[in-house]
Amino acid sequence: MKLSRQFTVFGSAIFCVVVFSLYLMLDHIDHSKNPNGERIQKLGILQDKIDHLERLLAENNEIIGNIRDSVINLRETVKDGKMFPEGNMSQGDLELLPPAPALLPIHSEDCQFAARTYSKAADGVQMLDVYDLLSFDNPDGGVWKQGFDISYQDNEWDNEPLQVFVVPHSHNDPGWLKTFDDYYRDQTQHILNNMVVKLHEDSRRKMIWSEISYFSKWWDNIDEQKRDAVRRLIESGQLEVATGGWVMPDEANTHYFALIDQLVEGHQWLERNLGVKPKTGWAVDPFGHTPTQAYLLRQAGLSNMLIQRVHYSVKKHFASQKTLEFFWRQNWDQDSSSDILCHMMPFYSYDVPHTCGPDPKICCQFDFKRLPGGRISCPWRIPPQAITDNNVQERAQTLLDQYRKKSKLFRTNVLLAPLGDDFRYTEAVEWDQQFENYQKLFDYMNSHPELHVQAQFGTISDYFEALRKSTGMDPVGMNVGQLALPVLSGDFFTYADRDDHYWSGYFTSRPFYKRLDRVLESHLRAAEVLYSLTLANIQKYGQPNDYPAVDNYKLLTEARRNLGLFQHHDAITGTGKDWVVVDYGTRLFHSILNVKRVIVSSAHWLVLKDKQTYYHDPSNPVLQMDDVQPAQDALPRKIIFEFFTVPRLLVVYNPTEQARMSMVTVYVTTPKVRVLNAVGLRSSKCSSSQLMVFIPRQLSFVAQAAPLGLSVYQLMEGMEPRTEAAKYMILQDGRQISISELEHFQQFYQQDAAPVHIENPHLKLSISTATGLLEKMSLKEDDSEHLIKVEFVWYGTTSNKDKSGAYLFLPDKEATIYSPSQPPVVRVTKGPLFSEVTTTFTHITHTLRLYNIQGVEGQSVEICNTVDIRGETNHEIAMRITSDLNSKDRFFTDLNGYQVQPRKTLAKLPLQANFYPMTSMVYLQDSSARLSLLTAQSLGAASLKSGQLEVIMDRRLNQDDNRGLGQGVLDNKITANSFRLLLEKRSSAEEESAPYSYPSILSHMSYMYLNHPLISMAVSQRSESPSLTPYSPLSASFPCDMHLVNLRAIHLSTEDTSIAQAALILHRKGFDCGFSNRNTALLCTTTRGKVKQITRLPTHRHTSLIYRGPKDCLTWLWG
Ligand SMILES: [Zn+2]
Repeated sequence: MKLSRQFTVFGSAIFCVVVFSLYLMLDHIDHSKNPNGERIQKLGILQDKIDHLERLLAENNEIIGNIRDSVINLRETVKDGKMFPEGNMSQGDLELLPPAPALLPIHSEDCQFAARTYSKAADGVQMLDVYDLLSFDNPDGGVWKQGFDISYQDNEWDNEPLQVFVVPHSHNDPGWLKTFDDYYRDQTQHILNNMVVKLHEDSRRKMIWSEISYFSKWWDNIDEQKRDAVRRLIESGQLEVATGGWVMPDEANTHYFALIDQLVEGHQWLERNLGVKPKTGWAVDPFGHTPTQAYLLRQAGLSNMLIQRVHYSVKKHFASQKTLEFFWRQNWDQDSSSDILCHMMPFYSYDVPHTCGPDPKICCQFDFKRLPGGRISCPWRIPPQAITDNNVQERAQTLLDQYRKKSKLFRTNVLLAPLGDDFRYTEAVEWDQQFENYQKLFDYMNSHPELHVQAQFGTISDYFEALRKSTGMDPVGMNVGQLALPVLSGDFFTYADRDDHYWSGYFTSRPFYKRLDRVLESHLRAAEVLYSLTLANIQKYGQPNDYPAVDNYKLLTEARRNLGLFQHHDAITGTGKDWVVVDYGTRLFHSILNVKRVIVSSAHWLVLKDKQTYYHDPSNPVLQMDDVQPAQDALPRKIIFEFFTVPRLLVVYNPTEQARMSMVTVYVTTPKVRVLNAVGLRSSKCSSSQLMVFIPRQLSFVAQAAPLGLSVYQLMEGMEPRTEAAKYMILQDGRQISISELEHFQQFYQQDAAPVHIENPHLKLSISTATGLLEKMSLKEDDSEHLIKVEFVWYGTTSNKDKSGAYLFLPDKEATIYSPSQPPVVRVTKGPLFSEVTTTFTHITHTLRLYNIQGVEGQSVEICNTVDIRGETNHEIAMRITSDLNSKDRFFTDLNGYQVQPRKTLAKLPLQANFYPMTSMVYLQDSSARLSLLTAQSLGAASLKSGQLEVIMDRRLNQDDNRGLGQGVLDNKITANSFRLLLEKRSSAEEESAPYSYPSILSHMSYMYLNHPLISMAVSQRSESPSLTPYSPLSASFPCDMHLVNLRAIHLSTEDTSIAQAALILHRKGFDCGFSNRNTALLCTTTRGKVKQITRLPTHRHTSLIYRGPKDCLTWLWG
């Protein structure tokens, strides 16, 4: 790989993590007089790293020149006033809406980047094709109920013996029926303590572990001697850490920001404490699997992975084709760069009865925890027997028969037989039962050559190593040897484990917390970025100060871990016990409060004119957030600003990496407010304020915010001639209601019962006066009118024995239309900055809002549904959007906010099987238009009819669904779901059958705005008004298609923040160019994947992007 490509970020949806070596590292090393040897050694390593970076940098002066040119070119392509000039945030009396380029300049290469033709691998399996192919019947397969009879010839292994790897494992959920801490106290610590003793007793014993949340907690509680013993077990290969994430994450509802963050947290812990890097992924319990996780594992340096919960019909098909082992390739991947070797477990479960072979009645007899007299037994009523000299021959042959049958489903003579279950190996006696009995079986098998078997305990990587060896593959690489394995693309949703039991309920269960998760994600990201920027800024300042770097890093670390914990497959999924949900909710809630402390203390430093006046008082911070969440299960409330004689200062943070114009809304006690910018000029951006009917009043203004920048505004009491009050119309049942106490506000009326219209320069909405719901939407761009009808619908649950619960969606029939007993109250608000219609039903408050702001904000309709179904039983409520688009049976949902997966609604599947996870968006399209619903929380979505989208918003279910939880879902909260609805004209249609699809650049940007709103902070009234100045760290916006996923500080320990590094994680987004770029008013452009030198950090002298060739694009900092 040529170095000239070093500054290019590759791939259609590829990350690059680069090392941001803060310049302070060099300074620190130069001046370090620390006598501590270890410290000096660490510094030496850092010095080497920096030297390496410097060398790379020196070799690439030319590239830097190119980058400079590209910046200059960029400036030229964007006409006056469209680029974000330095420090223009406060230039006073500008136009309300400054001009932006009418046509977004996009280089043709940027379009081709995502629009390359797709060629399927020769031995390729595309999951969309598999779904077309399968009949999804469910015949009784005999002992292997969901499969088929397996037979073999006795002499099949005569030339090459069967190699069996029995992999002991213990599945430890970080919270489910008990909280994380309770599981740790009652089970997990004993498992790990016994592990150290029992593995040391016999060097042939092996064990794998995957959840670092538990492992690190245990590590903190054991002495150095035990830690050394653990290190020895890892060195000897008896203990393997698989995956090494903080948890084994859910793969449906999780966003890639959090998936990466929990993986980094776990891997960094391993690097620091054990010095190991995981090689193999282990995911036996997530309820369906995503290629996004495969991609992230591959980029984190793993070569192999294992998955388990896949639709039983798919498993059966793959078993019959011997495609249960494959290279998992991303849909968009042109070559093999994303390939990771994946093993799919063939049977129903990961417990012992379903892992030794096809017959659970037999396999259960080889789970020696179920020996007679124990607490658990075999439901097939044939108990295990302890292995003795008398029975070993028969027992070994019985087990070998299962092994041989299982191996017939795979292409090689290497066989995997996991040995474990949930929270196994808690007691010493269980270790003895399993390990001693199995060792006797192995000894017998291995000492009888006529059996042609070699059986042993192994770790999961032992298995993959042997598998790779047997196929002629190299130990880690992707090259396929003599025995080719197939290549597979696509995903494994929606999971069914039996009959019509589709696990699509958990896509929506406990939606309040699915939303709270995103609130923490966006605030954590904001805090990480501001913290890293502040540390860099402090180094420039160069004097001792009061900034709480250590305390803030501790808060960030705790927040990363709480967010990581919530990605667990019983947490974000909403499938834990009520009190476990409260435990997770409390952790999220506390971490939101804590990262807000990091945000305000960092923002305070960055906007302060005189840094010497900085002080940190956690009990009385200078800045305070403009909203507060009163409890873990309550929606946030805005703080009301009072005015005295001095102006209130408001600091607004733009967490997006592009310049942006968005509305800021604050609550005030007076209708007479002026908004000034930092230097006291009347900020014309704020001149048009909107006040609403309720006391306190709502004041809105448009803030223009620099990329990752902090703007400063002054709010003061006083008449502002350009402040305009909103006008109101209130309706019920199509009739207008007059409100008498509308002091300071006007009412408006319309003559007839015709639909109400609200509009902005881009869109016009037509809303029924009777229902208060959207009926039509017009694009002003081409004057086209579309039928876009919003409705709410109910699902009930079936009258069969098995009913909907936390995991399963088992509806009674098609949804019925929500028809309220009372006609809703409809409030229409029209003002200069936005117009909205709020419709209040018994169970839903539904708001449609149009921003009168040029650019991204004005292009889509904001939808907010506040849902309250606490009075219902066995009901699920959904929002349905019916359009005139001829989308047929095809629609698109995202996977983890990272990529889009085309979907097909299949009549041969039950209704619940056609629901898919929607993490960031769902869309449908025909040749002329695309309708996208962007979401601020994960929910289940479907397109059950042509032109129709449906999203489940909340579910309240009276009963357990027999997947172990033992309760229904009855702890519903008042939940706010936010969306953006985007209608786009298509100028050229992509190939309809392509296995991938991309959002438009406008859709990407709208999603960013929805999920990363501006953050407003006010100077506390108790503080003396400090002198503040706007802060803008970048000289220009990032390219429109480049997302700064995170700027994640990395310190050697939580106690020592003096040596700062940060992982800069970038994501170049693929986008569909078949959309008009006219009038998008984006304040950014695309740059052919080049990262410009736009940072103004003091660090940029020593910034380098590490790129180690096409297969190592992603260089984690611990790598
Ligand atoms: Zn689990």
